[in-house]
Amino acid sequence: MSSVLDNIGNTPLVRLNRLPASEGIQCEVLAKCEFFNAGGSVKDRIGLRMVEDAERRGILKPGDVLIEPTSGNTGIGMALAAAVKGYRCIIVMPEKMSMEKESHISVAKRLMEEIPNAHILDQYRNASNPLAHYDGTAEEILQACEDKVDMVVLGAGTGGTLTGLARKFRERCPNCKVIGVDPAGSTLAEPSEINKTDVTGYEVEGTGYDFIPTVLDRKFVDKWYKSSGATMYIALQAMKDFGLKKGQRCVVIFADSVRNYMTKFLSDDWMSQRNFLAHDPRVGVAGTWW
Ligand code: PMP
Repeated sequence: MSSVLDNIGNTPLVRLNRLPASEGIQCEVLAKCEFFNAGGSVKDRIGLRMVEDAERRGILKPGDVLIEPTSGNTGIGMALAAAVKGYRCIIVMPEKMSMEKESHISVAKRLMEEIPNAHILDQYRNASNPLAHYDGTAEEILQACEDKVDMVVLGAGTGGTLTGLARKFRERCPNCKVIGVDPAGSTLAEPSEINKTDVTGYEVEGTGYDFIPTVLDRKFVDKWYKSSGATMYIALQAMKDFGLKKGQRCVVIFADSVRNYMTKFLSDDWMSQRNFLAHDPRVGVAGTWW
């Protein structure tokens, strides 16, 4: 490998056996494990692609500053590309992951005006974002599956993964159902009535917004589900709802892993403070503390 950037893309597609079987699901379920990318998420692909496309267009000079508003994963991917290629990088994140994008996007714009030789590549509007998935993520899945996929399930943040992947799937396996997952409290899903809720915030990060990013093309989605759980949870539900059978195949995109959320979803205290634990795991069967 000539640099760590070669370790972005070509992620493993892993068959899930026990979990679908435990739900009575008989079709093949494959997880595209994007947490194996060098920076740990699907967004490494666009961090690299946006930087390299800007280089090809002659926009970047050595030492320039890349500023990017992000819920985090794009920031990691971009910082990785910047570090290897010799750019400086400023990542602007919302303090919380819910409903505060206006602030992080406007802070990024203010910084760009203040700092010389700074650029916002802008994952919300940059065509390199969906293209990274059209050329990479989708192509890898279709090659591995010989163009036979009956359902693909994925979350949407900027929608770049969804748009790029779905566009290529429509060309190569047009009958594949595209299932979008949108947290309760976000407004990306359609029809818009399903977004009505009293929920004003959600704890999952990286998916959901209160504006529609330019790179999200919602015409590709066959059905949206609202859930503040995970993409796998909705995949199980959608495979049942659509009656996927033995011999059919569902691909689920695992955008990152719980290693990014050790102090949240892996913390019993954090989980129980929010009443997310059906049973407090610290309480043994006889009701005693472990
Ligand atoms: N899941 C996670 C954990 C993410 O960080 C992101 C990116 N924000 C996504 C899903 C959605 O990716 P996209 O921006 O391509 O819609």
